[in-house]
Amino acid sequence: MASTVKCPFCAEEVLKEAKKCKHCGEFLDEQLRVSRTAPDGTAAVLDAIVPGLGDIKQGNIGKGISSGLAIGLGYFFFIVPGIILHLRHLKQVRNNPLIQARRAAMTPAQKEGEKARQAQTQNQKVRLLLALLIILVVTIVGIVVFAILTNQVLR
Ligand SMILES: [Zn+2]
Repeated sequence: MASTVKCPFCAEEVLKEAKKCKHCGEFLDEQLRVSRTAPDGTAAVLDAIVPGLGDIKQGNIGKGISSGLAIGLGYFFFIVPGIILHLRHLKQVRNNPLIQARRAAMTPAQKEGEKARQAQTQNQKVRLLLALLIILVVTIVGIVVFAILTNQVLR
């Protein structure tokens, strides 16, 4: 029969070798309790900047990755469709009869200027979308790489 001791936190009987009480969940191993429950300032700051990094640093890899991904995807699915819908809306504005009429009244030189301006804004929009996509991919890759590295350090 295995020897037991009283848990100093809930007074239930637990195995002498137990590092964690099965009744109240307290860490019985002093070192473990300090490292698992001490507030980690760096983790909190990291978590505020990149959601999930704090959890990952504290060893909750799965939780960190899922909350980071959830928030990243949240941004992606709200901002990117918003931009796409906005671009479509701008196209509709351009096809508005009033604007068409105004364009018809333009001199050829004015029309050329208008065309050049539109091409430029189109370019800027494409670049903006690309930049957003790159930021998203870099964030996700960063979180995953950080998770892998932290996981190895913790082992
Ligand atoms: Zn206990």
